[in-house]
This record gives sequence, C-alpha cells and structure tokens, in this order.
Amino acid sequence: MSWRDRGAGELRAEHVGETATLAGWVARRRDHGGLIFIDLRDHTGVGQLVINPERSPDAARTAHEIRNEFVLQAKGEVVARAPEAVNPKLPTGEVEVQVDELTIVSRSTPLPFQLDEENVDENLRLRYRWLDLRRDQMQRNLRLSGTVISAIRRRMEELGFVDFWTPSLIKGTPEGARDFLVPLRLQPGRFFALAQSPQVYKQLFVIGGFDRYYQIATCWRDEDLRADRQFEFRQLDVEIAFAEREDVLETLEEAVVASFEALDRVPPARPFPRMTWHEVMAKYGSDKPDLRFGLEIEDATELTRGSEFGVFANAEIVRYLKVPKAFSRAELERLEEIAREWGAKGLAYLVVDEPGEVRSPIAKFLSEPELEAFRAEPGSTVLFAADTPATAARVLGGLRTHLGRELDLADRTRDAFLWVVDFPVFEWNEDEERWTFSHHPFTGVMPGHEELIESDPGAAISQAYDLVWNGWELGSGSIRIHDQEVQRRIFRALGLSDEEAEEKFGFLLEALRMGAPPHGGFAMGIERFVALMAGEPNIREIVGFPKVASGADPLTGAPTPMPDPTLMELGLQLRPEAKSAD
Ligand code: ASP
Repeated sequence: MSWRDRGAGELRAEHVGETATLAGWVARRRDHGGLIFIDLRDHTGVGQLVINPERSPDAARTAHEIRNEFVLQAKGEVVARAPEAVNPKLPTGEVEVQVDELTIVSRSTPLPFQLDEENVDENLRLRYRWLDLRRDQMQRNLRLSGTVISAIRRRMEELGFVDFWTPSLIKGTPEGARDFLVPLRLQPGRFFALAQSPQVYKQLFVIGGFDRYYQIATCWRDEDLRADRQFEFRQLDVEIAFAEREDVLETLEEAVVASFEALDRVPPARPFPRMTWHEVMAKYGSDKPDLRFGLEIEDATELTRGSEFGVFANAEIVRYLKVPKAFSRAELERLEEIAREWGAKGLAYLVVDEPGEVRSPIAKFLSEPELEAFRAEPGSTVLFAADTPATAARVLGGLRTHLGRELDLADRTRDAFLWVVDFPVFEWNEDEERWTFSHHPFTGVMPGHEELIESDPGAAISQAYDLVWNGWELGSGSIRIHDQEVQRRIFRALGLSDEEAEEKFGFLLEALRMGAPPHGGFAMGIERFVALMAGEPNIREIVGFPKVASGADPLTGAPTPMPDPTLMELGLQLRPEAKSAD
C-alpha cells in the first residue's frame, strides 16, 4: 500500500463519498467532547481529519497519544462538513475525512517552538531549521526560489546559453572581497581560494570558443554578514562572446521578466531605464537609487557662487533636496546627525511652514533670487549640502534614502528596475591612498578613454553596469578587456608591477594574446533577487541553511576547532590567541 493517494490540501467537495489515504504532520489537535479533530499538513496544504470513537474505537485510542508534528497516516471517507462548520478560509474547508484507520508513523518530542508562533527568536529557528522549514512562510519562500531559478534556466537555454561548471577551488584573485582560503594536504603551506565568482573562468570559456556561457554559480566571499549578505551565495552568471553592452542587458532583462511571468506577476516594462553613473550620483546621490519615489537632488552651485552665505559661496558645489514635510527642530537635529554620519560638517535648511512662513537660520543671508530658487510648497523643508561633489552626493543620497523610508515615499505597487551604466574605471581608496578598481580589474574601458588610465585615472569611464531594483543592487557586469596591452595598463594603474601581474594573472594575459574575442557579461545575485520577489527584507528567509551575523551556523555549531593532527597534516599550527578562542 502506498503511503498516500492524495494531498491533504487537495480535498474538495467533489471528493465527497470517496475513500482517501493521507499522510502528513499534525498541525493541530482539538478534542471536542468525544470527537477529535486533527489538522493534517503536507506539501499541498492542510486538511481536517475527524476521529469518531463510535466509528473507529482503535483510531480514537491512537488519536489520544497524538501531539503536534507527529507524522500520521490516515485512511477514511471524505464527507461534507455541516454548514456551520465550513471554513471559507481554507481551500479544503468544505470537507473533512472521517477516519477509519489511523497510524502513528513517527513521533515528535515536545517542540522548542510552535510552528504558528510569531516572532520566534531567529537563532532558535535556525537551530531547529527542519521544523522552521515546515512553516508556511519558509515553504512558500523556498518553493518560490525554485520556481524562479527554473524559469531563469529555461529562458537562458531558450536564448542559446549553455550551462557550464567552473571550479570552486581556485587561485586567489583580487575581486574586491576577502577570499576564503583552503589549505592543501598534498602541498602543505599552499592554499586555494574559494571562488568569489567564476569571473576568470567564464572569460576563458568564451575565449575557448563557447559564445554563450551561463551558470547558477555558488560564490564565496569572506565579508561581514548582513541582511543582504551571506558568506556563500549564488549568482546567475553570464558571459557572451562578441557582445555589445545591449546584448548583455537584454539577456538579463529576459531572465528577470521570465521570473515575473513564472510567478504570474506583471513583469516590469522593457527596456528597463538606463542612466549613467554620473547622472544617478548627481540626481540621487547613490549608485543604487530607489526610483519608486522622486525626491531628486537639485543643484544650486552656479546660483550661490556670490552668495552672502559664506558656506555656500566657498563650497565646491551646493546641492539640495526639497522634502515634502515641514520638520520640527528635533527632527532637524536628528537629520543633521545622519548628515554628519555621511560626512557633512553640518546641515543648512529652510523650513516652509504650513502658512508659508520660512524658518531658517540662514534665510537672512540669502538673496531674493536664491530664496526664489529654493521656494518650496508650504509644509516642506529644503536640506542643503555644500561640499565636494562626492561628500554632497553621499550626504544627500543618504538623507534621500532615509527620508524615503521614514516618510514612506515609495510607491509599493511599482517595481522600479534601473540600469546604471558608465561607471568610473577607478575609485580612490582614501585609507590606502591609491586607485582601486570600481568593478573588477577585467572591466573594459570606454572607447576613447584608454589614455586617461595614466593621465587622469579618476576621469576614465568604464564599460561596467549595474542592475538595480527598488534600491537594491541586484548585480554587476561589464564588457571586458580583450586586449592584453590594455589589461596590463590597468594592472599597472592598480599598482601591480608587470612581474606581479604575470605572477597573478599570467594565464589570463596569455589567453588574451591567443585570439580573445570581444566579450562581456554579468552576474545577478540570486538570493537578493528571490528575497525581493518574496517580499522578504532578509535573504536568510529564502535560504535553507544560512549563517548568522557572527558567522556561525546555529544548526550544526560550525565552525568548529580541528584537532592538532589534522592541522599538522595541512602544515598548519594555530597562534596562541586563535587557540584560546576554542
Ligand atoms: N564576476 C562579477 C561579480 O561577481 C560580475 C561580472 O562582471 O560578470 O560581480
């Protein structure tokens, strides 16, 4: 006999009179003066069992032992519920199963938390993840994740992409994050790195003549964990030979639209808007702006050149936000604190109260044309940043994001996708006082900007692009360098001597010398994408077995110390401070 012939959540009025065998977990048991009701749950939903001692005394005896999360098998007749017992909230709410045979298949010890309990401590949920996974939310999220991934795979294959596998154990490459290192027993003292992404390998695949590569690739990065970050995560990883930027962007748009369609959601209109990095930084102060609300940064640099207000007159640039709320003094103090956290020296403001009166310590210094330009609707506040372009962008961008959330400005019915294109090639690293790459060192330079690599690195524009959804960065990509001479110049600009470049990336430089086609690609973070699809603010809610912020896995207790002989085999010895942490 098979364990079941129907899903508990599949019972409907049309089945009345049939015999059903169900198997699943006890979600709830209720005793009602002789009758026992059990909500039986499986992957299809919940159905109600009724055990009547008069109909089946054996089943009734068994039912008395039953507790939540026992696994049962029940056989009985599907009957219509009495009209007053119909539950319109449940798809199975019109019927129930009158049980004839009941078997306890598996028992459960008392539960550390009830599945329908709210706000259960996350560590406890993760410690008993197998229970947590039975909850509706986790069932929904992980199934949604599976649906999205298979829709992406289908669409990529329809578009002619071939699924490739790349190694996890690779040579450490600088990609922006810290590597996880793997010691090697066969060569003590030497290490592999876990791949931060398949970047170099996917380039080698297209150089190797495979013109459309894709993979749902696992990547590892030793970074601090956050709501949108785990040590290991997956990317929809793409590379295309003979690609123009548009070929890559269109491919990703296809994958996004396919995911929406698979979930029966209205897909975002294509093409997604494209804006340059310079434009978004000036307008939104962020390279991942949430476009579900306006609140654009405006510029007053020209206007304030000869201002009586010295802070404006002397600043490199003056920019401002017109916020649709007249803030109180206490609120302004709080906003100033936030502005300072983002690097501002202070926060100049003009509050326009409901009657239209201006409240501001700086108004008396401003000329008529200035006041005219800053005039805002009654019930609003103008917030200024007078600083370097980078600091002003950071401060006003930070305030814009904060206020968007605080004042609930985003239109939640919208899905705002955006391509940010034309990123700079380099970023200035203040701490190390040197140029670093803003995407990765294999990113192509905008045609015509090659000379700037040496003459004015900060002005060089790259062929990198990012995909943003509702203020979240979903991923990045670029048209790559396929000329080894340009690649060498980039390495030099990043402070790598030719010898170091050869030592670290000799294999890539050699490949670029042996007939490398122009190529480009992209990688989109699957977990971030699925979390947004599921409406979850934290990717831990869509990952089966995540780590917590400390880096630990509450389920297994990893990471764990290793015995000395194991370490010795790898040629390793712990420093005393690492030992005492055991
Ligand atoms: N490998 C890059 C990353 O993981 C993406 C790309 O350029 O394709 O960010």
